[in-house]
Amino acid sequence: MGKRYYCDYCERSFADHAEGRKKHLNGVQHQRLRKQHYDRFRDAANILAEELPKKPCKRFGQTGQCDFGTACRFSHLTYDDIQRLRKQVDIDRFHRSNSLSSSLTGSALLNSWLTKRAERLATTKSSTSENPASALNWTLPNHLQSVPNLPVSVMPPSVLDFSEENVSTWG
Ligand SMILES: [Zn+2]
Ligand SMILES: [Zn+2]
Repeated sequence: MGKRYYCDYCERSFADHAEGRKKHLNGVQHQRLRKQHYDRFRDAANILAEELPKKPCKRFGQTGQCDFGTACRFSHLTYDDIQRLRKQVDIDRFHRSNSLSSSLTGSALLNSWLTKRAERLATTKSSTSENPASALNWTLPNHLQSVPNLPVSVMPPSVLDFSEENVSTWG
């Protein structure tokens, strides 16, 4: 098995020999994907602004190839390319407003997290403050109720007077 050439643009590999490679690199599919690859890094609006004033390249239009490539002073954009770019401009615009709103969503998420956290803290607080409350509702078990002179520590809080003077006399 001979060496294989992997084309990053087309994301496929093929037998690596000069002729095969040349054929591939000049292939319509490859050139289209390669162009798309680079166009992705350019602003569609910029491309349109650059290309629209140009006259269409006759050579490229007729043969699908032009030796001048991207340096050609005529436009290599087809009608479909222009439509695609126009769509891309819309998409870019959408993404821009979207990334704006996603940063807004980010702060909204943070806010909702903070709100939830505050709620959680509030419930934790109220549940800890509920615990003494339920402790206050605790009553003496039946078998202890008949026992006289129970130590204060065993007495249910509900029967105890927590008023300050009383507490200070507990020693
Ligand atoms: Zn390729
Ligand atoms: Zn050209």
